[in-house]
Parts: sequence; structure tokens; C-alpha cells
Amino acid sequence: MTSSKKYVYAFEEGDGKNKMLLGGKGANLCEMTQIGLNVPPGFTASTDACNAYLEKNQLPPGLMDEIRTHMAALEKKTGKGFGDAKNPLLISVRSGAAMSMPGMMDTILNLGLNEVSLKGLITQTGNERFAYDAYRRFIQLFGKIALNISDEHFDERMVAIKRKYGAPQDVDLNTEHLKELAGEFLAIVQRQTGQAFPQDPFVQLEIAVGAVFRSWMGKRAVDYRKQFRITKAQANGTAVSICTMVFGNMGNDSGTGVGFTRNPGTGENVIYGEYLVNAQGEDVVAGIRTPKAIAEMEQEMPEIHRQLIQLRSRLESHYHEVQDFEFTIEKGILYCLQTRNGKMNARAMVRTSVEMFHEGLITKERALLRTEPAVLEQLLVPQLAPNFHAKSLAQGLSASPGAASGKIVFDADTAETRGRAGEKIILVREETKPEDIHGFFQAQGILTSRGGKTSHAAVVARGMGKPCVSGCEQIVINDQLRSAKVGDTVLKEGDVITIDGGTGHVYAGEIPTVEAEFSEEMNTLLGWADEVAVLKVMANADSPVDALRAREFGAMGIGLCRTERMFNATDRLPIVQEMILAETLEERQAALDRLLPIQRADFKGIFKAMKGLPVTVRLLDPPMHEFLPTAAQLELEIAHLHQLRDTIKALEDLPETLKMLNPKLYQQYADGLTPLMGALSTFKKSHMEAEVIAKKEKILKKVRALAEVNPMLGHRGVRLGITYPEIYSMQIRAILEAAALCGKQGIEIYPEIMVPQVATVEELKRIHSYVQRIRQEVRATHGIDVQFKFGSMLEVVRACMRSGRMAEIAEFFSFGTNDLSQATFSFSREDAENKFLPFYNETGILEDNPFEVLDIKGVGQLMKMAVQNGRATNPDLKVGICGEHGGHPGSIRFCHHIKLNYVSCSGPRVPIARLAAAQAKLLEDQYREPV
Ligand code: ADP
Ligand code: MG
Ligand code: MG
Repeated sequence: MTSSKKYVYAFEEGDGKNKMLLGGKGANLCEMTQIGLNVPPGFTASTDACNAYLEKNQLPPGLMDEIRTHMAALEKKTGKGFGDAKNPLLISVRSGAAMSMPGMMDTILNLGLNEVSLKGLITQTGNERFAYDAYRRFIQLFGKIALNISDEHFDERMVAIKRKYGAPQDVDLNTEHLKELAGEFLAIVQRQTGQAFPQDPFVQLEIAVGAVFRSWMGKRAVDYRKQFRITKAQANGTAVSICTMVFGNMGNDSGTGVGFTRNPGTGENVIYGEYLVNAQGEDVVAGIRTPKAIAEMEQEMPEIHRQLIQLRSRLESHYHEVQDFEFTIEKGILYCLQTRNGKMNARAMVRTSVEMFHEGLITKERALLRTEPAVLEQLLVPQLAPNFHAKSLAQGLSASPGAASGKIVFDADTAETRGRAGEKIILVREETKPEDIHGFFQAQGILTSRGGKTSHAAVVARGMGKPCVSGCEQIVINDQLRSAKVGDTVLKEGDVITIDGGTGHVYAGEIPTVEAEFSEEMNTLLGWADEVAVLKVMANADSPVDALRAREFGAMGIGLCRTERMFNATDRLPIVQEMILAETLEERQAALDRLLPIQRADFKGIFKAMKGLPVTVRLLDPPMHEFLPTAAQLELEIAHLHQLRDTIKALEDLPETLKMLNPKLYQQYADGLTPLMGALSTFKKSHMEAEVIAKKEKILKKVRALAEVNPMLGHRGVRLGITYPEIYSMQIRAILEAAALCGKQGIEIYPEIMVPQVATVEELKRIHSYVQRIRQEVRATHGIDVQFKFGSMLEVVRACMRSGRMAEIAEFFSFGTNDLSQATFSFSREDAENKFLPFYNETGILEDNPFEVLDIKGVGQLMKMAVQNGRATNPDLKVGICGEHGGHPGSIRFCHHIKLNYVSCSGPRVPIARLAAAQAKLLEDQYREPV
């Protein structure tokens, strides 16, 4: 029978680049063979054969014929015979798909053993014990993988035999014991399958090939692909590689091991790995004996060590990448059984990128492309010590990466006082609000029981580079008792916990952490990235401290400075509230006059910190009520005060009541009661509680007046600026005066004024007129004509539609993609993330969370149009993005594609964005917008 299709490729002929067809393992076995490395001879049956098998549930016609032909060639090459009684050929039947899926699919070793070839193996090796050991291993492995017999049947016999002969370890069993064991294993197969163990080696091979193909659809493998999102385009079916067995367990001149061409933990340029003398491949993984470090081999097996070093350099100079390889030594001869690109941690990736470039092994481009930008995060925040042992108490969302330990504190004020006093604090709250910000400053980390990855806590923590676990619902917080419960565990204020914002885990007690490190190599690599990238990378930063830190991360300016963060600081909030509560313009102006110097000082600080670089300041954005307590809180406080008043009244009547009820008792207490009555009347005359009640009621009235059905779409942003011109005027003045003062000191600055929530061109024009007026005034008073840019945030759909006209006034646009995504989807972020978005993602209605990954198909198209229309009006229009997406590598590629000038993200993400910006440039030709 002739088959129409070629399924099988000898290692000498297979295309080493075609991993889709031959699997990663098969392709590399071919490639290694072809470049002359010592690989045991063999061949690979393709993934096409696998898919044909899975479709019909039987091996495709012609496959076994092809395999027989290749087996004949293998016999010729090795001079051995398959199933031979004197010099038997044994093979391994190995799985391997295009994407590495470690341990997910099956490999069968020592295939070809039967009662006849067993004798041959004994003759061949002169080692009866070894032969029986191989036989019993093969029966078990074949039984399990190919015949579906559970391990426990075999393991049970193994334990029984060891007990019977008093052998503590497998290796203590002698030939006779193993012979007996093999007999029992054959009986198990007979019992479990109703058939004898297949003796015909080709029958064994046929069953094994089918079993390996089937393992592609095994539960483990399917789950793994789901978990790591491996699509059919990345890996479609497993290939089967059939490889002549070599034996590492043939004595003390044999062995087996695994190696990395460089240290995968540090990147150091030395061979790294482990080996075992007189052992087979799986023994290293199984941990039957403790392997030795390859460094020791230099003493123990110097000649093999020399070959290994040579293998290492041949692998690297061929693959131009760090390799992770498997080797076996049979009687002094080194064989390479597998190689693949080494998986390394971020530190090692960065170091090897720089060093391999300097060694001439890779180009600068490759150095920039081989690291996934997101992994750099590992290096930018503290991590839990790698070898800690602790059981997690609860798990929430990984809202902001990094690990931190500290004492639990349940409110921001306490966090502030205890933090200032030098204690390490973790702020634990149900959810956080803008007025909790002062607590964030003093906390090591934040833990909330409610809210998603873009909740207030998460966003603010990320901005500050502090660890945060959000939405940890297993934790039930009781603010009254100042305690929290997780299952049976009660956590009290002051108890120490550790949070890991990278995984969302919460631990009781302190777990050691390792600090972030911004290495020399990282600086070098990111320096190269900046040379290549077109996009500039800015930071979102609201204070001089954040600004300085962002600069250390390599930020090329500040793309978003949120002024409300300044309003929330404890020393300003009362003045801000005064401004909000003002009944008249004069009162409000008085409060604003007090805020002006404070804001001016803030801006001066930030300009100084960012000297030489642009700083984009956004005018006030949130609705006013965010600066006031909630109505519920006020009502509660007022009720308490009323209660106090009633209590005092009742106390006043106490002497008279007592006298009436029990004159004797009254006499007894009279001396004590007199001073109390005096104190009470003084307190009453002071009208203290009445004043506070009046004040609180006034605030409550204002809070009620400011209440909005949908604050996100309410009286905020430019709408505030238009209705209360004095607020924006104060801020604009603070910016321009700060700039003038810096100018006088010779500090080079590039301020930009940005207006949030703009929907109509007219809004922007109004604010522009304030700016023009104040600019003149500052020129008159300071004698300096401040140079700055004026621009609009684009975070309202209408503004994107009007971008052409908007660009007549705006010198820059900055896409506020957080709000723009909400507006485009008509989703409120919090509600979406807490209610339906996870379901949307799971069921494939939406591929990603649009608040983490820019929705290119929708929001992105609006952006593209706005850029085009804006630049049609003003070709020099500067355009950037300042939403969370500005730090997301996939979104950055799109930003490059639509020719933005910059992305702005939180400080700690700046290095990630720098690398992503370089990759966006290097890969621009391959970029395809999703459709
Ligand atoms: P995995 O993908 O799980 O690593 P492999 O196919 O690489 O599976 O094989 C598992 C183990 O068996 C490895 O340790 C490998 O070195 C060893 N092995 C596979 N084929 C052979 C062979 N022909 N000779 C000796 N050892 C082998
Ligand atoms: Mg392997
Ligand atoms: Mg916004």
C-alpha cells in the first residue's frame, strides 16, 4: 500500500525550523543531528500524523509502513536488531509539541524489550540486574501510558517485594528480586487487560505511538493549554520522536543529567545543571538520589566535563540563545537527548541579553526582543524571599505587584500616625476612598476585601509603586471591633501580616522579602531601548517624591500630574472643604487664596524634580463631594452628638432625682456630685456640641446638595472649571507662577496645562481664555513670559469626534483611556469588574479586560480617528496616552502604530514601557491590528 502523505522524517532529514510539524523536541533532535552533535539516531512522526490519528481514532494508513522502513534503517545504522536475542535495539517513544508543555504528555523508554530481547540485553551488557531493572520499568511505564493501568498496582507489588526481602531502597533489590518483580508486573498486565503483555516489538511500538498521540487530548495537557492560553496556531498536536536508547546506568563511566548553558537564576555565563552517575534520565527528575552540580564533574569525570563544555558552546553558537538540554553518558560517550530555549527569570534574561550582545552572539535587536517586557516587573518591586515556607491565609486579586509585611491597621488616620512613628503598616479596609490617601503614604501595602484590579486602592497603590491585594473576599473586616476574620483566624489591629501583590496571597506573620534591584545591565538594556524607540515614555506622578522616583526609572517627563492628590493631603483638605462649603464668592476666594501658595510650592517641587523635561498638569478632575465625608458618616456623627446633648441633660437632673429616690445615697455622693454639676454647666455654656452639630449639619446639607445620581458623568472636570472659574484660575496661576519662579532660578522647565473631561470645543476655548488672561498677569507681576503648552484630555467620546476643531486650540491631546474605555463601552469600571466582566472574559464575549488591555477594536479606533483629525488641523499636534494602558506592552504596540508621541504610566511600569516601546518599533512591520 502506498500512502499519499509523508509522515515520518529521519533526524538527518527533518527541518529543524519546523516545530509545528515536528514538535520542538523533534525539530531540535533533527537540527542537532544535522549540525553534527552526538544524538542517538532516530526519527520523528509528524503532528500531521497525530491529527489524522485523533480525527479517526486510528493511525493513518501508511504510517506504520513508514515507521517500519525507518526502523530498518535504524537497525542498520546501529547494527542492532529490534527484538533481537543477541544485540537488541531499544528505543524511546517521546512526545513533543511545538510549544513546550513540560511533563504534560508521555514518553515511553526501553521499548522493544520482551522475553527474547531481554536475553539479548543481558548478553549485550553482561549485566543481568540492569536488564531486569530495565524490563520491569518498561512493563510499568508501558502498562501505565499505553494500556491505562494505574501505577498503584505496580507500586504495591514493589513495596511488597522490598518488604519481603528487607530491601530499604529500589537499588537494594538484586537480580532475583527484580526477576520476580518483572514476573508479577506481567501478571498485573494480564489481569488488568485480560491479555498478555505484548511481546511483538512492533505491536508495542504501534500501541505506544497511538498512546502518545492520545496524550495530546489527555486532561492534563488540555488543562495546561487552557491555563497558558496555547492556541492551535501555536501548537497543534504532538509529534512522536523515536530515539535509540542510550544507557546512563551502565556503570560508573555512565550517567545522566540536565544542563543550562548559563545560570538561569542569575544569568551568569557558566554552565549550570545537575547529573547523576550510573542512572537513567528520569532518576534526576524523580529525585531518587540527590544529583550533583555539574561543577563537580570536572573532578569526577574530567573528560566528559570537557565534552559537556564543548557541547554547551556549540549549542549556544548555533542557537544564539541560552539552551536547556538533557544529556546521557553511556560508557564514557556523551549524547545529547534534547535541547530547547532556556526559561530564565527576569534578572537572568536581562543579564544574558547584555552579555550575549557583547560576546557577539546576538544582535542588539535580538537583545531587545528576547525579553517579554512584563517580566521586568519582577526586578522593580520587592519580592517574597524565593525559598520561604508559609501557607497562604487567603487570596485576593493581584492588584499591584510587590511584597510587604506590616502591622494591620484598619483606617487611614491610624495608618498615618503609626506609620509616621516609624512602624510598618499594612492598611486593611473593605475598600478605599480618595480621603484615605494619607494612609497610603505611610503604609507598606494595602489590602482590601472588596473592589477589582482597577479599584481606587489598586490604581493608587500602583501609582505609588506599593503592593496591593484587592477584592480579598475571604477576609471579613469588622471596623467596630477593629478586627478581621479569615475562616477561623482572627486578625487584630497590630497583628503582622504579609501581602504579595504579585500573586494576591495574604500570609499571617512576617515573611522575608528581597529588595528590587535596578542593575547595571538593566540600565544598559533600557538605554538601548531608548535609542531604538520612537515613543517617549512618561510617568504618572503627583508629587516631587514620585517624580524623582519616576526619573530613576527612566521617565522622560510626567504625562499626568493629578492635582486632586495634592488636595487630599491632611494639611490641605480642611482648606479645600472650606472652599467647597463657601456660601459666597468672597468666602471661596479666601479659601482659594490660601490654597494658591501651597499648590504653587507643589508645582515648583515637581518642576524642579523634572528639570529639563515636560510636566503635564491636569486641572482639578473629580466631583467636589469626593473631598467631603459621606452623608451616612455625617448623619451618624450628628446622631452621636445629639445623644451626648441628651445625656448631659439627663445628668443635670441626676442630683434631684437621686434626692427623691434615696436621700441617704444622695448624702453619700453629694460631695462628688457638686463638681460634676459645675463641669456640666460650663460645658453647656460653651455650646460646644451645638456648634459642632451646626457645622456638621451645614456640611451635610452641602453633601446632600452635591449628591449626584452618577458622579462619574456629573459635575466634574472642566464642568467644574466652567461653573467655578475661580478654582481653575487659582490652579492655572499656581502653575504659571511656579514656572516663572523656576525660570528666575534658571531651572529649565516645560510645563503643560491639561483640561480633563472636555466634551465641546467651546469648553476648551473658555479655559483657554483664563489661561491667556493669567499668563498676562503673571508676565506683568513676574516679568517673565512663561512658555508652556495648553491641551486637552481626550476621554469623552464626543471630544474624539470633535478632535479636528479641538486641535485649533489644543497643542496636545492626551487620551485618558480609563474614562474613554468606560465611555465607549458604557460600562462603569467598578461595576463591570465586580459583576459581569469576569463572566464575559470566561465565556469569550470579551477576550480581555478592556481596563487592563486597550480595546483596539473599539476604543483604539476612536483614538486613531482623533489622531488623524487632530493632526490634519495641526501637524505638530503632540499626542499621548495617560490611562493605565500606557504601561501595557500590547497596548503600547498599538500606540506606536497610530503614531502617538508618548505613553504615560505609573513610575514602576516605566522600564516595562521603555522596553515595549523599543519592541513596538522593531516589530512595526509585523504589526496587524486585530479585526
Ligand atoms: P520530557 O519531555 O518529559 O522531558 P523526554 O522525551 O525528554 O520527556 O524523556 C524523558 C526522560 O527520558 C528524559 O530524562 C530523557 O533524557 C530520557 N530519555 C528519552 N529518550 C531517551 C533515550 N533514547 N535514551 C536515554 N534516555 C532517554
Ligand atoms: Mg525531556
Ligand atoms: Mg479621567
